[in-house]
Amino acid sequence: MRPATCLPYLAGWSAVAHGSSLTASNNTVSPNCQQACTELSTLFGPALHYPVTDNFTIWDAKQQEVTPACRVEPSTASDVSQILHVLVDTWCHFAVKGGGHSRHAGDSNSIGGVTIDLDRISTVEVLDNGTKARVGGGANTNQVYSALDAHNLSFVGGRVGTVGIGGFTLGGGTSPFSNKYGWALDNVFEYEIVLANGTIATVNQSSSPDLYWALRGGGNNFGIVTAFTVRTFEQGPVSTTRTTYAPNQTEQVLDRVYDLFTDPVLTSDVDMGYDLYYTYTASSGFTLSGTQRYAKPLANPPVFDAINQIPALSRSPSISTLSAQTAGSETAGITRHLFATLTITPSRPLLTTALQIFSEEVLPITSVPGLIPNLVTYALPRNALAAMKARGGNALGIESDEPLFLILISTAWTHAADDHAVETMTHNTVARIREVAEGLGVANRYMYINYASAAQAADVFDGYGEENVRRLQGVQRAVDPRGVYTSTGLWRGFVKLL
Ligand SMILES: Cc1cc2nc3c(=O)[nH]c(=O)nc-3n(C[C@H](O)[C@H](O)[C@H](O)COP(=O)(O)OP(=O)(O)OC[C@H]3O[C@@H](n4cnc5c(N)ncnc54)[C@H](O)[C@@H]3O)c2cc1C
Repeated sequence: MRPATCLPYLAGWSAVAHGSSLTASNNTVSPNCQQACTELSTLFGPALHYPVTDNFTIWDAKQQEVTPACRVEPSTASDVSQILHVLVDTWCHFAVKGGGHSRHAGDSNSIGGVTIDLDRISTVEVLDNGTKARVGGGANTNQVYSALDAHNLSFVGGRVGTVGIGGFTLGGGTSPFSNKYGWALDNVFEYEIVLANGTIATVNQSSSPDLYWALRGGGNNFGIVTAFTVRTFEQGPVSTTRTTYAPNQTEQVLDRVYDLFTDPVLTSDVDMGYDLYYTYTASSGFTLSGTQRYAKPLANPPVFDAINQIPALSRSPSISTLSAQTAGSETAGITRHLFATLTITPSRPLLTTALQIFSEEVLPITSVPGLIPNLVTYALPRNALAAMKARGGNALGIESDEPLFLILISTAWTHAADDHAVETMTHNTVARIREVAEGLGVANRYMYINYASAAQAADVFDGYGEENVRRLQGVQRAVDPRGVYTSTGLWRGFVKLL
């Protein structure tokens, strides 16, 4: 292996521990990475792409603007291992792409290094009489729903078909099925993972309890997961109804949503899920809407009777499989996106205040072309909190047994010139809601890694609690003593522990 003294070749790059703020002062490719791409080209032939001829697209425009030295598409865990050997030998930095739905440059498309694109590792194999499935680490949500629907099965997947199960599951994974089964990370029995030294390991609770625990929420700090063995369950079509409301219904809707998120009787209907959205568009102004989800094909699930007493502006019901619901492609690489998040203990007054703060912060920037900001709220339900304790528990450090609310500020816009305006709006919205939450005594330290902004990245693991951070860092050092997967090593994007 080439010694670490090759690092000066990376001059011009800066990486910040705990953060994904990797930036390039220019877009040149280091000799190390040129060498890595040459070697990978020999090994992988047509599965190795140089940017000049690559028609690769990735979800967010900021990631699309990144130019890697080259992109390689492994087909197996052995391929991933071989790629890692080349990258460590040449000491070339890299990023790993699952579904590519991160929103910060360098998170999953490498800035001047090698992008390891897992998209060919997407096989879904049903196991153990339909109780489990082995899912390739580069599969996307719709590929898994589709493969399982064919057997009348499903899994704890997300709401959008093109999101990768890799990033989704390693960070958390809130699902339409979370009220019944919990988050995705608590429904993984086994991981096939390529460690920093190229070893392909099988990780489950009995083989490696510490690494298994760390993978349940530890993100991209431990290895490249080439297969997840996940829980599957019998599932047919589900009921999904989108409703929108007039502004004068807001308080009534928030009352009923608060009940759906917290009331012990309503939440004990484990087939129920609800997502609340407050959205600004240039054509409609601010609109409150909700998605009612029910895991059975019922047109009018009784759990929604109370909220459905409120007259809706529009109501779009559908009964269909999740593969049908999540089918279709999105236009990739054109729109800019920013997510940021906070978690609170349920507070009905805070829901009203959060909407108020959000609209006050959005109004001054409504001239931004393509602006579509959303305030999204989901519950972290009791059953999901209980599932977080199963099989040795997960790394998130969430201590509550009672529901929590996740708040996501998710904004789309068009031009780079407006990045600062959107970042400021997002920062102010989160900071002001947090300040009110602290005043009410309902702030929670947890920040969902998959919804955190780059500006929040440095604080994400602090939200897991000191003891968990120490344990995670210990596991990281044990499995990756050279620090290849750390912010000072080679895999530096997204949210780093060290
Ligand atoms: C439109 C949209 C809808 C969403 N819906 C939901 C939702 O319903 N529920 C929810 O919880 N979240 C949701 N999210 C958030 C989503 O979970 C995160 O953005 C997640 O990180 C995306 O994973 P990815 O594989 O697509 O992204 P990527 O950018 O490819 O990956 C994210 C990070 O994980 C790493 N990674 C990916 N795959 C692997 C792997 N196999 N092994 C090791 N590291 C890997 C990458 O290197 C990167 O650092 C949504 C996001 C978007 C943009």
